[in-house]
Amino acid sequence: MNIFEETKNRLDIIEVAEYYGIGLNKQNKCCCPFHTEKTPSFSISRKKQMFHCFGCNISGDVINLTQNLLHLSTSLDAVRQLDTDFSLGLNLSPHKPTKKERQKQAARSQRKFLIMKWDEWKDTAIRNVIEYIKLLEQFRTHFS
Ligand SMILES: [Zn+2]
Repeated sequence: MNIFEETKNRLDIIEVAEYYGIGLNKQNKCCCPFHTEKTPSFSISRKKQMFHCFGCNISGDVINLTQNLLHLSTSLDAVRQLDTDFSLGLNLSPHKPTKKERQKQAARSQRKFLIMKWDEWKDTAIRNVIEYIKLLEQFRTHFS
């Protein structure tokens, strides 16, 4: 099961809607938060765990609802927000590297450092050789 399914399974869309400030009536209807209207055409189905507005035709699940209500840019952001607000304890934290991965990473940095040092040394060596050749040229002109 992915985190989107898990989020949907753990939450009740009506509870979430009310938490984010949607005041539903007894039929779980209200004026649409996504368009201006005077009579409620926005409704949430607890059975389907979906919302729908007959006025502007927007619809979706608890994740879409959260994303749209809080103006989040991705559905993953919505999942993160829900995870925080409803303490879902989803495993969304960045991957912690294992000992082997840390060693690999250390070896990579070490190699990068050595390559950098080698390049520095090479540049210096080439400069020195060039200087030396110039010096030899000067000697040759001087003594010929
Ligand atoms: Zn609407």
